Amino acid sequence: MNLIWHRADLRLHDNPALSEALKAGPAVGLVVFDPNILRNSTPRRRAWFFRNTAALREAYARRGGTLLVRSGQPWEVLPQAISELGVNRVYAVRNSTPYARYRDQKVAAALPGRIVWLEGQYIHEPGSILKPDGGPYTVFTPFSKRWWAAREPVLLEAPAHFPDVTLPLGFNPGIIPEEASDIPLPPAGEEAALGALEVFLQNKLSRYHQNRDGLAGEGVSRLSYYFTLGVLSPRLAARRALQIGGEGARKWVNELCWRDFSGDLLYHRPQMLHSAFDPRWDDLPWNDDRELFAAWLQGHTGIPVVDACMRELRATGFLSNRGRMVVAQFAVKLALLPWQQCERAFRDLLLDGDNASNLQGWHWAGGLGVDAAPYFRVFNLITQAKTHDPGGAWLRRWVPESGGQPHPYKAPVLDLELARKRYLAAAEKIARKTGAGVPDQSFQRVAPRPPENEPGGS
Ligand SMILES: Cc1cc2nc3c(=O)[nH]c(=O)nc-3n(C[C@H](O)[C@H](O)[C@H](O)COP(=O)(O)OP(=O)(O)OC[C@H]3O[C@@H](n4cnc5c(N)ncnc54)[C@H](O)[C@@H]3O)c2cc1C
Repeated sequence: MNLIWHRADLRLHDNPALSEALKAGPAVGLVVFDPNILRNSTPRRRAWFFRNTAALREAYARRGGTLLVRSGQPWEVLPQAISELGVNRVYAVRNSTPYARYRDQKVAAALPGRIVWLEGQYIHEPGSILKPDGGPYTVFTPFSKRWWAAREPVLLEAPAHFPDVTLPLGFNPGIIPEEASDIPLPPAGEEAALGALEVFLQNKLSRYHQNRDGLAGEGVSRLSYYFTLGVLSPRLAARRALQIGGEGARKWVNELCWRDFSGDLLYHRPQMLHSAFDPRWDDLPWNDDRELFAAWLQGHTGIPVVDACMRELRATGFLSNRGRMVVAQFAVKLALLPWQQCERAFRDLLLDGDNASNLQGWHWAGGLGVDAAPYFRVFNLITQAKTHDPGGAWLRRWVPESGGQPHPYKAPVLDLELARKRYLAAAEKIARKTGAGVPDQSFQRVAPRPPENEPGGS
């Protein structure tokens, strides 16, 4: 018998680990509740993970299969499960965050030669899209050109039935915990995800390129929370969109390319968990002001667009990409809050919270050296609201006291104009002194570190 170790691939469709395991013979699935990840998560994210695990167990059961669950350190749980079940090999889809690589090295050391690693978390695996000289990309556009030219992955069907397996008498498949979420959760499981994909493709894809930028997030797919746990295959989603075709489809699939780019950046540069992508920006005069941080996090800055974003995120676990850029810019550039704390607190509120995409988003929006995002571009928060929420309906919904108007509804925690000047003066000083701010050159200054012990990553 073989074991399919599901991690960020809580699905049966297009799952290379599952397909390869079943080619080799009968197999059972396993999800490990890893305390290193769970203790660093939040009730909404744990609840979402448990519900999607339960949905996966049901999907297995409907096809005559078994999904086991166990709690504990994966490098202890896996060897134990293997000896209890008499497992031959373990099949798993590779993950590439610093913690995942640390975890998988430990598990591989505990089970020498018995794990088969496969690709499938991304469309193109982190580390696989390289410059002609073999180095990693740091700027999106050239990365995306290579990405679009790469060979399309082969899609895999979900199995119709699992072959029978005989589990040892009295073997306990394990209980999936239930945790109350502080927000309403979307329907869990791959059937719901595949259904939501089709609804998006039929109703919104053709105008995605025109409507994707609204603060209300109405023109977008809202599939990110399925992609993050691998409940939906990004490879399948891209294929379906490109089959339909058109400008909207191309733009949407390009966003999935951003997802791959995010994974690739973190793979090559795990330091971005702690340090600015271009570490010269670590020298900005960070302002560890607890009150300011709390006002930002709670949505009480007095600046309608910032407060609407943070209140919507707290209440729903979702925020449009435009909204994410706005609050990250406010926190990093205008408030100069230590970005690591903001990135972490922000990720905790997101249902789609994902180390790689969130870090990329914060480094990008904060002008910390990712891509060609210029450090000197500072959003005008009034204009952002006017342009991306014309009419103010979204503002009115989340900050009724603003009356839908983009101007501060009370004395703001920051004078936006003074804050902008303060940031620009500090950033220009660093840029003049060190040459920071020129894309694609800073990367060579710091050698990528090998994966390290990062308990708490996901
Ligand atoms: C500060 C900041 C933090 C972010 N944190 C996260 C995060 O923790 N998890 C996350 O999944 N995305 C994150 N993003 C990226 C993006 O905002 C979300 O993926 C997107 O808003 C999710 O909505 P959607 O599913 O409707 O996206 P759509 O517009 O429908 O796009 C389809 C898919 O493409 C991917 N995608 C879209 N935009 C991006 C992007 N800029 N970077 C990477 N992938 C992208 C997502 O998987 C998304 O589901 C962040 C962006 C910023 C600026």
